[in-house]
Amino acid sequence: MKLTWERRQLKLRHPFNIARMPMSDSTDKTVLLVRIEHDGLVGWGEAAPISYYRQSLDSVEAMLSKAGDMLGNDPFALDAILDNLLKRFPGESAAICAIDGALHDLIGKILKVPLWKMFGLDRSRMPLTCITIGLDTPEIIAAKVREAAAFPILKIKVGTPDDETTLQMIRREAPNKTLRVDANCGWTSENALERCRMMADYKVEFVEQPTKPGDNDALPRVREAGLGPLFADESCVTVKDVLYCVGFFDGINIKLSKCGGIRQAMKMIHIARAAGLKIMLGCMVETSVGIAAAAQLGPLVDHLDLDGHLLLANDPFTGLGGAAGRLTLTDAPGLGVKELAK
Ligand code: MG
Repeated sequence: MKLTWERRQLKLRHPFNIARMPMSDSTDKTVLLVRIEHDGLVGWGEAAPISYYRQSLDSVEAMLSKAGDMLGNDPFALDAILDNLLKRFPGESAAICAIDGALHDLIGKILKVPLWKMFGLDRSRMPLTCITIGLDTPEIIAAKVREAAAFPILKIKVGTPDDETTLQMIRREAPNKTLRVDANCGWTSENALERCRMMADYKVEFVEQPTKPGDNDALPRVREAGLGPLFADESCVTVKDVLYCVGFFDGINIKLSKCGGIRQAMKMIHIARAAGLKIMLGCMVETSVGIAAAAQLGPLVDHLDLDGHLLLANDPFTGLGGAAGRLTLTDAPGLGVKELAK
C-alpha cells in the first residue's frame, strides 16, 4: 500500500472561537488529506491535528513519513496495522485517525459496499446533527443563529463571563429550538452548579465539558440537582477514559481525531453503552472526508455534532450533505465522498 498526503487550506465561513483558546478573527484552517493507494483504488482519510493534545501539522507529517513503511500490503489487516501505530505513536491520534479512515475507505471500495452497511447499521437511525455557534459578539451570534435557520438543533459555545447575554440573545432569535451548550472547560467547581442552573433556565438539552479534566468536584452535585445532563469531551479522549467518566458524566463526546479513528471509536461506543453512558459523536473543523468517517457510526449513537464541513466555505469533497442537519449515508462505497474538481 502506498501512503501519500497533502496539506489543504480551508476557509471557514466565520472565525471559530471557544472558551479555552485565545480569541482569533482568522478564518483559515489547514488539514492534511491522506491517500492510501492499493490495487488501483484510493482510500481517503483526514488528519485535523488538535493543538490541545500537542499535535500539529508538522507532527502529523513526521508520523506519516514513518508510518508509510508500517502498512504492509493487506488493507484488511486493520487490527494489526492500527495497533502497531497506536503503540508506536501514542500521541498522534489525528494522524492515526487519517490512516484508519483511508484504510476503511479502501476496504469499502474493494468490497463495493458503504461502511455503514459493512458495519450492519440501519441508516434510518441516524440522528440529526446540530450546528455550532462559536463565541462572538452578541450581534454576530444573532446573525449566525439567523443564518442557521434551517437547522433544528444548535450547539452554543459558552464558558465566558458573558454566558447569560449569549443565551438571552440566542433565545430571542430561536425561542423554540433545541439548544446544547459546550463550556469547553470554561467553568470551575465554584461556579459550575450556578452556571448549569442558568442553562436550565434557558431550556438547554445538555451541557458539554463544564470544567477542566480532573476538576470533577462539582459534577456529582450538578447531576444530583437534576441539572445537565453532562457530556464529557476534553475529559474523554480515548478508550481508556470512558469508564472514568461514570459517576461524573451522563454521556461522552467521541471524536475520531481524539481517539484514533473509526476502529477506536467503535470500541468506545461499546464500552460506553455497557456502562450506561449516552454517546455523542463530535468533530473538528474538517472536510467531508473526516466527517464522513464519523458519520458511518452515526446510527449507533444518541446525538450528532458533525458539522465541521458545514462551517467551511470551500469543502473540497462532496457526498455527505447536511442541509437542515440531515447527513446522508449513501450507497456509494467506503466513506461515500468524492473530491470536487480543484
Ligand atoms: Mg466540545
